[in-house]
Amino acid sequence: MTRSISIFGATGSIGDSTLDLIRRNRGEWRVVALSAHCSAEKLAKLAREFGAEIAVVSDESCLTELRGALSGTNIQAAGGAQALCDAAAIEADLTVAAIVGCAGLAPTMAAIARGGVVALANKESLVSAGEVMTNAVAKHGATLLPMDSEHNAIFQCLEGGKLDDVRWITLTASGGPFRTKTMAELDAATPKQAVAHPNWDMGAKISVDSATMMNKGLEYIEAFHLFPVGLERLRIIVHPQSIIHSMVEYRDGSTLAQLGPSDMRVPIASTLAYPARMNTPCEPLDLAAIGELSFFAPDEERFPATRLAREAANAGGAAPAILNASNEVAVAAFLDSQITFTQISAIVARTLEQLTLAAPQSLNDVLAVDAQARVRAREMLVSA
Ligand code: NAD
Ligand code: MG
Repeated sequence: MTRSISIFGATGSIGDSTLDLIRRNRGEWRVVALSAHCSAEKLAKLAREFGAEIAVVSDESCLTELRGALSGTNIQAAGGAQALCDAAAIEADLTVAAIVGCAGLAPTMAAIARGGVVALANKESLVSAGEVMTNAVAKHGATLLPMDSEHNAIFQCLEGGKLDDVRWITLTASGGPFRTKTMAELDAATPKQAVAHPNWDMGAKISVDSATMMNKGLEYIEAFHLFPVGLERLRIIVHPQSIIHSMVEYRDGSTLAQLGPSDMRVPIASTLAYPARMNTPCEPLDLAAIGELSFFAPDEERFPATRLAREAANAGGAAPAILNASNEVAVAAFLDSQITFTQISAIVARTLEQLTLAAPQSLNDVLAVDAQARVRAREMLVSA
């Protein structure tokens, strides 16, 4: 029996890994929609290879190139923000949300609005929208399957368990490429060093987030919404080997952990096959070769991002969306060499301090908070 799938952010790192698994099981899937921001050439190539029904570039100025690259096929080409949401509203058995940033929120909400099953990699959308998204999931009978490795691990550890019985959910963090760096070294860190993650091969934005630890901060808020045990039962531990992807401790003292190689195809496969299992080409875990697993408490002096995220989660309302938007602006500015590495968290902290906005009640409210926070964060780049 074939299942249908749409992938938003098909040309990125998660998109690549997802399509690699689909390619290995070609007969089991029918591809409905694939999207990219602009990379029309790559998107068209994938759409042709997988026989997609529709290919969408969210940047409308790239539509002409996409049309050209798809000429002679009967694959529909579309462009722009509305086209992206329209494509997400088309029925598919599984929708992979793999766009980076809050830009993925509207299409994800469109898939939720049709009651779809969404494999969520795009953590920024859930962080920004919070209850607006989880309420929509409940209202439309949609399902979120966590694709982020930590949340996928927790999801697996919770199977057969009750949230009421959970004492702790522990998110593991690699600590990123700068885990052992001094404050002075962090000040001088370059974009090239920041994107060179020791364990994972990922897109540029999430790589910088891993280096600042904001990735773990965002994941903390993501976990709060996916697994409602309360913020006081969520904690973060640094585990440099990235072998344990997260853990759940129950009230009887049993801790369940999910282990695996640092390859996103493992959590992606878990969502593609859910509730069954499928093969992946990943090397089996060789614990004897790995030798040791180590753990450290996070250092929030050098890496304040997890504290900022915790404070934003505690404050609730618009704060998580402000945290996320200002971080997106600051990370882009750092990648563009406009600000230093340590200024990223400083800009997020100041934006959160200076901006108080009403709690968003709808998708449009979230997008308005996101837009306002971006304006404020951009003003800070000038004075940074
Ligand atoms: P990436 O930069 O490699 O790919 C991003 C994708 O989104 C591309 O297809 C790109 O064309 C598209 N895109 C970029 N900007 C867009 C915009 N403004 N509008 C519409 N589409 C846009 O990123 P990635 O590493 O694949 O990460 C994707 C998401 O998955 C992020 O939210 C990230 O946090 C999350 N995630 C990634 C990994 C990983 O290993 N890469 C792991 C866990 C979670
Ligand atoms: Mg993760």
